[in-house]
Parts: sequence; C-alpha cells; structure tokens
Amino acid sequence: MNKHTTGEKFLCLTLDLENDWYFDEPGYDHLTFEYIDTFIDLINDLDVPLSVFVVGQTLEQYPEEIDRLSNQLECEFHLHSYQHDTSKNYDFREEVINGKEAYRNHFGRNPTGYRAPQGNIAEHELSLLEELGFEFDSSIFPSYRPGVYNNLSAPLTPYTPAGATSLLEIPPGAFSGIRIPTSHSYFKLIGRSLSSYLSVSPLPEVLVYSIHLQDLFKTASHDHLPVPKRWIMKRNLNNAERMLRKNISTLLSRGYQPRTMTDIYSAHTRDDSYESQTNAPKDHLDPSPVWASAENDD
Ligand SMILES: [Zn+2]
Repeated sequence: MNKHTTGEKFLCLTLDLENDWYFDEPGYDHLTFEYIDTFIDLINDLDVPLSVFVVGQTLEQYPEEIDRLSNQLECEFHLHSYQHDTSKNYDFREEVINGKEAYRNHFGRNPTGYRAPQGNIAEHELSLLEELGFEFDSSIFPSYRPGVYNNLSAPLTPYTPAGATSLLEIPPGAFSGIRIPTSHSYFKLIGRSLSSYLSVSPLPEVLVYSIHLQDLFKTASHDHLPVPKRWIMKRNLNNAERMLRKNISTLLSRGYQPRTMTDIYSAHTRDDSYESQTNAPKDHLDPSPVWASAENDD
C-alpha cells in the first residue's frame, strides 16, 4: 500500500471540457460553448480555482474559447484524451500521444495530469501514462458504474495505483460509505436530499467535485438524447447553477480549502505525505484491479 495524506481538507473543482454528447450530426457540436462567458462569471463568483480536463480535439477546434477560460479564470488545464472515444476500440498509446500533441501545440508545454473518458482506465494504461511523462491521473471513480467499472473498494484519497511507481492517482470524489460520486450530475439527478446530506455526511479529506458544461446549461443536445438519458440529464437542469453554488458553499463552510489538481499533487508528493508503505512483492498483488496496491480508507 502506498497512500498519501496531508491531514488537511482540500476541495478541487474540476471541469471535463468536451463535446456535449458526441452526436455525429451537424448542428450538435459543442453547443454548450455558447455559455462559456456565463460559466466564467459563475466560477469567478464562486471564487474557487478550476482544474480543467480538456479533450485534445476540443482544444484544436475551440482555441479561442480555451484562451478565454485561461485568461479570465484562475484555472489550469490537463488532458481528457484526444477524441473522447468511449468504445475503447483504439490504441491507447496513440490516443494519449495525439492528445499530448494537441495540448503542446496550444499551451507550449506537456500536460501533467490525465482523466480518462467515463473514468474507464486499465492498469497497463496507468503504466503507460507514467511512461509518457504524466505525474497524476484522476480517472478511478471510487464507485460503481454498471458495464464500465466497479471500484467500490478503491481508495477515496490520493494513492499510487497498481501498475505505477511514481504516478499519483487523485481519485474523482465520492461520499464515504455510500460511494455516490461528488459529480454535479449526481446532485442534479438525486436532488436536494443529496445536497443536504453533503452538509453532514462523512467525506474524504481530499474532495474532487466534477462538473461538465452540459450539467449546467441546456442546449438542443439535451432534447436530442435518447430516453431515459434525456430525462436524467434534464432533471434539475434549471436549478443546476444554484445547486452548484450551494454545494461549494457547504464544502467551504465545512473547512475544505479550495485547491487546484497541481496543488493537491504537490501537497501529496512531499516526502512527509506518505502514510505507510510496504515492500510487498508485486506478484502478490496480481492479478488485481488498478487501485489494489492502496489501502481502502473508507
Ligand atoms: Zn468526458
């Protein structure tokens, strides 16, 4: 096991920046981008830094919008694959290399953090991220998504995942115990009772709260979704901005300090941040899920 702790409570707000739902038809491409300026005002108003995971193709297609975010917000950018293909029928190495190239062409430097589409990542892919120079990953939802992952025993706070030696996993957030992700889509779906629970529930010391533009702003894409996804995504959409304000203010009042992903990475890779280590031979850990080298802290 190789878990990292600082003893402090950190909140990290992340945005996955991508095409809304990857409809192929013309007329449904990145429709939420018309709300970029409204979004900038909202985040500035919340007064917390934003960590953006951006899709390589989005970066290539909308450089001016990315610059607006970059110039008008306290934010940083990481990579969210190159083409956001959720089929997994592609070469992962090529996908990440293409993404890195798109990132480098825009920002003039390499990305340090990665988040996989749908949080779908395998152990050998984490090794590859490390080999390709990434310092951290934030893909392993410590939760359950039928047909995509079952990480109900995965740690809720940063750790070194199986398959990696230096790469830090900063997992997307979830409630301790009930393991519902602290993703805005879940707050919208479940409604006010989950927001109320946020004010009293046990929570991990590092809490990543993830949002998408399509969780906040309604476009024609919502009406284009098949049922029941259309119903799920439209639920509480008119209240989505208010719910975000309330949830962030709840977490701040619970003593969470707002930080970027890079801040969290730095705080958890200081020499004194290791809670415990063992020298267990690696073959004792195989075959194992990607989070298996860390201790469950639930
Ligand atoms: Zn995504």
